[in-house]
Amino acid sequence: MRFAEVAVDAPWTRNRTFSYSVPEHLPLELAHSVWVPFGRRVVQGIVFEITPHPAVEETKEIISVIDPSPLLTPSHLELARWISQHYLASLFDTTALMLPPGFRRRVLAYYSLKPGVDVTGLSLSPPQSKLLEYLQKEGPSELRNIKKALGGKAATAAEQLSRRGLLVREWNWARPSVGPKFASVVRLAVSKQEAVDQLKALNDRRATRQSALLEALLQRDGPVSMSELKDISVGLPSARALEARGLVAIERVRVHRDPLKFRRYETIPPPVLNQHQQEAWEAISQELKAAEAKKDRQEPAVFLLHGVTGSGKTELYLRALGQAVANGKKGLVLVPEISLTPQTIQRFGSRFPNRVAVLHSKLSLGEQFDEWWQIKEGEFDVVIGSRSALFAPQPNLGLIVIDEEHDTSYKQTDPSPRYHTREVALKLARLTGATLIMGSATPDVSSYYRASREEFRLLELPTRIVTNGSAAHTDQQLSPMKLEQNSLLPGVEVVDQRTELKEGNRSIFSRTLAYAMDSALSAGEQIILFLNRRGSATFIQCRECGHSLRCRRCDVSLTYHSAWKRLVCHHCGYKASPPGACPRCGSSRISYLGIGTQRVEEEVVGRFPEARVLRWDRDVTRGKLSHEKILEKFLAHEADVLIGTQMIAKGLHMPRVTLVGVISADVGINLPDFRAGERVFQVLSQVAGRAGRGPLGGRVIVQTFNPRHYAIVAAAHHDYRGFYNQEIGYRRHHGYPPFNNMVRLVYSHTNTSYAQREASRMSRLLVRERDSRGLPDTHILGPMPCFVPRVRGRYRWQILVRTPNPSGFLENIDVPERWVVDIDPLSLL
Ligand code: ADP
Ligand code: ZN
Ligand code: ZN
Repeated sequence: MRFAEVAVDAPWTRNRTFSYSVPEHLPLELAHSVWVPFGRRVVQGIVFEITPHPAVEETKEIISVIDPSPLLTPSHLELARWISQHYLASLFDTTALMLPPGFRRRVLAYYSLKPGVDVTGLSLSPPQSKLLEYLQKEGPSELRNIKKALGGKAATAAEQLSRRGLLVREWNWARPSVGPKFASVVRLAVSKQEAVDQLKALNDRRATRQSALLEALLQRDGPVSMSELKDISVGLPSARALEARGLVAIERVRVHRDPLKFRRYETIPPPVLNQHQQEAWEAISQELKAAEAKKDRQEPAVFLLHGVTGSGKTELYLRALGQAVANGKKGLVLVPEISLTPQTIQRFGSRFPNRVAVLHSKLSLGEQFDEWWQIKEGEFDVVIGSRSALFAPQPNLGLIVIDEEHDTSYKQTDPSPRYHTREVALKLARLTGATLIMGSATPDVSSYYRASREEFRLLELPTRIVTNGSAAHTDQQLSPMKLEQNSLLPGVEVVDQRTELKEGNRSIFSRTLAYAMDSALSAGEQIILFLNRRGSATFIQCRECGHSLRCRRCDVSLTYHSAWKRLVCHHCGYKASPPGACPRCGSSRISYLGIGTQRVEEEVVGRFPEARVLRWDRDVTRGKLSHEKILEKFLAHEADVLIGTQMIAKGLHMPRVTLVGVISADVGINLPDFRAGERVFQVLSQVAGRAGRGPLGGRVIVQTFNPRHYAIVAAAHHDYRGFYNQEIGYRRHHGYPPFNNMVRLVYSHTNTSYAQREASRMSRLLVRERDSRGLPDTHILGPMPCFVPRVRGRYRWQILVRTPNPSGFLENIDVPERWVVDIDPLSLL
């Protein structure tokens, strides 16, 4: 008799598995997906262990195997266990990250009348009789349909009647939401020579459609799909006619929904590395060689590649991948938001034509499904994707790259598991022996600290590469002194907006910026204007009584979007028309304060009417390709000014941009989060990095009311070290990460005092746990209302815990499901 430990799809199981017995005939292996009984239901599960003894006395039997082959590798099983334990997440939810797209299936409840039961004369409530009537008419019905037809009360009635033995309830699972796609194709069934001969005969007989099809097949040297036939105006009858003559065969074949189908790559030979790249490359390449030889190597090396914007980091990723592939290995390349980085796909595609897969949530489910299975078959050298691509079933992993490792999108905040890609990648690298390279111009302060402690190997690219047509000017001829000053990075001027105001300039453009825009426009150069806030006015207030317009469901001000002429809540999406008069006092004197990207657009249009303007923010881009379209337009110089939020800061290469204007560097600077300074520094450095990436050079103008803020000063000087030194001192002083770990617990409820009471109860529980275990290094802060105390009508309370070992501390605490537990939270707001 064999037994299996199974992670089951039920939310309250944390990192537990459950014991099941394995039926004699069932060929069960590790990592098989199975249907198992759980409580009164049937759920999906993944086999984590097969043992001769069960962990409990009574076990139920596994019902069946879902997918004939195991879906995960042993490394993935171990990785799932680690994530589940470290982030206090359900083991099945964690495993689900690694399963094929569309794998998870809903379990549906069906009710039917019990055969042979007579209901006449029974005392029934009105909902009960209505339900019986419905089932008599409709036959066995799914609960959701019953509720749709009869309302919510029918669910209770169904429950009651099945308890009385009048109804039968059965569980069934929904059909998979996605599967392989098949299509009909036509292929030649005879030799080419014969086809050519027959073509003449057809032409003689004027069978034009049939000969067109035959010609297409001869040209193609492969099958032609039915949809392609339409393009040459050939219909199914012509194909059937040729089939009847024995010239072609019509077949159903599996087709791959390929997200990169329409991409064309031009191949560019790899450049000669500059001196800094060369030094970094030697370290990486040595490591990859050692990995290949499996010697001199206890643990795989982790590299932190700190290189200023445009210093040639991506070139090193490409080489590393090349070497891994030469060693018979494969790679994963993670980028923050893939829809913002079409250029990265392009570069990998041209170096590894047809060997690149992409995986991210903007793909259709069908595309994700086909990519996943092809990846599992080992079809690709590299998978490029956003954080979830880390879990792609790439076999034979030799290299993992995390580009822009500081980016916040690497942390999953919802739903659970709330993991950080960097930590999971570290674990995966150890489990598989893959080399990990994390790159950034502005490394996360914690990562840089870990590099300084030699947990990561630091590689630095302090200078930029400027390309001029085909020839690259690198910095080799400059003195080392110059290199330290980050030569070739654009100069940054900080403009004090207080002075502008004092001197009577109330415009959103300082005189310096307006002048610079003017000269860039007249020289036919491109400009980027950055403001990390959407909308046109971010605060709407009555000038008579001071009343400000706030969302009804959230405790935040509404933002006015002039493009839609609507007030919008950025937390819940609530929309309203702007009022003609103050809702409190009736005055019509209402001011629109605070600026967003739409307002910037209006101001540019008003002031520089000849300039062609493009805006790039979440309000503009909703579809799949619109990011790429905007970028294409701007690259093709169909616009002179690009206005955007932090999207435009993400690693894009726009060589014709000579001026970057930061409308306000102060957005977010005063938020009560210990990472506020780091965020401002990162985004300013990244935005500044968009300027001067071509032979024309460039400059950056930063407008601020805080010209002496350390993050702004450091960003203006391209001084990562200076910023880091200040920041790390501050973190050490206050005991923030990396000197401690954190947990954030958030509870929300529509009743404010209930939420507060529950938060207090939890906080007392945590304090008691700390005291009884004697943990002096564990600090419990709160409970306190969240920064936005109400969202979507729910009051939010939080508790912050600073502790060396978060999951260890919370291990024995019963945290109800309603609490959101975030280990190593990236935001405290
Ligand atoms: P990063 O990833 O650090 O932003 P990239 O790798 O994108 O930098 O390099 C910036 C530009 O310089 C790209 O157009 C790239 O093709 C080019 N480049 C990189 N390395 C070299 C080199 N050694 N010689 C010439 N051009 C290079
Ligand atoms: Zn008013
Ligand atoms: Zn709202």
